[in-house]
Amino acid sequence: MNKKFYITTAIPYVNARPHIGHALEFIQADVIARYHRLKGEEVLLLSGSDENALKNVQAAQSAGVPVQQFIDENAVLFVELANALGVQFDVFQKGSSKEHHLSSQKLWQLCAENGDIYKKSYEGLYCTGCEAFYTPDELDANQECLEHPGRKLESVSEENYFFKLSRYQDKIISVLESDELEIVPATRKNEMLAFLKQTLQDISISRTNERAKNWGVPVPADDSQRMYVWFDALNMYQSGVGFGLDEQKHNKWWPADIHVIGKGIIRFHAVYWPAFLLSAGLPLPKKIFVHGYITSSGQKMSKTLGNVVDPFPLVEKYGSGAVRYFFLREIPPTEDGDFSYEKFEERYNSDLASGLGNLVARVLALVGKINPKSFDKLRIPSEVEGQIQSPKLREIINAAREKVDTALEKFQFQDALIAIWDVIHFCDRYIEEKKPWSFDFAQDKPDQKEVIDDLLLAILAIGTLLKPFLPATSEKIANQLQHGKGDPLFPRLDRNV
Ligand SMILES: [Zn+2]
Repeated sequence: MNKKFYITTAIPYVNARPHIGHALEFIQADVIARYHRLKGEEVLLLSGSDENALKNVQAAQSAGVPVQQFIDENAVLFVELANALGVQFDVFQKGSSKEHHLSSQKLWQLCAENGDIYKKSYEGLYCTGCEAFYTPDELDANQECLEHPGRKLESVSEENYFFKLSRYQDKIISVLESDELEIVPATRKNEMLAFLKQTLQDISISRTNERAKNWGVPVPADDSQRMYVWFDALNMYQSGVGFGLDEQKHNKWWPADIHVIGKGIIRFHAVYWPAFLLSAGLPLPKKIFVHGYITSSGQKMSKTLGNVVDPFPLVEKYGSGAVRYFFLREIPPTEDGDFSYEKFEERYNSDLASGLGNLVARVLALVGKINPKSFDKLRIPSEVEGQIQSPKLREIINAAREKVDTALEKFQFQDALIAIWDVIHFCDRYIEEKKPWSFDFAQDKPDQKEVIDDLLLAILAIGTLLKPFLPATSEKIANQLQHGKGDPLFPRLDRNV
């Protein structure tokens, strides 16, 4: 049996349209999933829509649309975005589905049976943006949440259910320290360990029907309460693979090998989630990869500033390959990065139009000059390196292949692409050096034919290396090699920004 590999994106709130931050995360997760598929593993990539959050209810109300209709319409946009980007979700789990409700109630019951859920009266400050309670010392100077400055916190006083988070403090410290649950990058792990040095407070995991506006997963055996959104949202990772519904399926896929998340929700994933799982007697995920945020022309994206970048027109104008390339190559995988149309078009023109696209077009043009019969022989060789004559070219392709392997194990998407572009740059220099445009193919000189063969094989290798990163481009390259011609992969843009 093939090794299984289970990877998830975070589960986005569907209170608004997706933005480029979602695109970044979808692309990163898809590259890792595709890479493992190519290694022959049985892969499941899960995403979904967090449909039980209060902010969804509020957004639906201000839009004047019934909540279910509102979230269904928005959830579809996230699936459409994935499709547009060539991101292949195996499961897209909806938070308002009956299955997810049943599964989350099962998790609640297991935690309750273990004595970790109790009821008490509570007063606290709630940020609807984060869907989280904060203590005054966790807020900024204006007593506002760090993620949502300018938004007033809601003062909440009610009786609800609490989870004994404090009970799992030591155990979570030990699984994080030992990397039994590994957090990448290490700076995020240290941030969580520092947070865990304080005394953990138990957390509220339900709300009254009234405050929940009768929306969300009902608490088992208490029809006056709904689950706190993070309790059920984290369980999307399990409900999507059958937890509480299909034991065989759950046993097959759980635990997750990697959760891909943004830096704003790390505490939920590295502290709350393992605590719920430990309480329920379930295995912990193996790894959490934390990416940063994308700024827009140097500023935080916000509706007020009007600089939120919509990923749909971006894909429509430049193609999914260019969008995937930009986010993987330009945005540092574990830090914040910046998007601007100027940077985007610069990357597009230099790396894609003049780099990859130009090389493929040049080599195909050279091949067109040769007797087509000699080209036939080259069609999709099963093994590339052994046939390449230039030792330097062989070496640089091997190095790129090794670099892609080691870089992807560590989520270093930039390093992987740089190694592939090293092959492209080498081929450009090789062409300048050998001057194949001056070859007289009528004379059938073996050393000249060797140069053309080597370049064709190099392009084949580049196309194969690009598979997890730019799958559609990789397929186009294979097609063009088969037919000896094709449209430009990345037509040069006239700079107008
Ligand atoms: Zn907040």
